[in-house]
Amino acid sequence: MDGGRRENQGCWRMKDCLFCKIIRKEIPARVQYEDEQVLAFHDINPQAPTHVLIIPKKHLPTLNDLGREDRDLAGHLILKATEIAKELGHADEGYRLVANCQEAAGQAVFHIHFHVLGGRRLSWPPG
Ligand code: 5GP
Ligand code: ZN
Repeated sequence: MDGGRRENQGCWRMKDCLFCKIIRKEIPARVQYEDEQVLAFHDINPQAPTHVLIIPKKHLPTLNDLGREDRDLAGHLILKATEIAKELGHADEGYRLVANCQEAAGQAVFHIHFHVLGGRRLSWPPG
């Protein structure tokens, strides 16, 4: 871990982390995909007809915490996200894969996650 560097970000310990609780099935979620490395589930407050979150099972608070040792995991997360978007029918019409890093960028849960958003027109630039 990071020696308490993120103590003020609420959810920096695995024990307290909301998404670790979802991984451990302590909090229910509508699971879209699961394997040994990642879990994908539907967002509780969807911002589009499709709003799936894909997370590593390894607790990493932000994108900044990814190291070279996480190369395969990071690749797997992104590839799976694209497969989920395709499965849900968004390959041709388009979709957005987005990860917010740190509070100012909109990160509220400090366990790395990619949002897969699709099913409506998405504006750019984001707010
Ligand atoms: P962030 O703002 O950190 O990028 O995204 C966190 C996302 O987690 C938000 O879109 C929020 O709606 C979602 N979320 C927060 N709590 C829960 C929960 O208990 N279950 C599910 N499925 N999604 C959650
Ligand atoms: Zn976690």
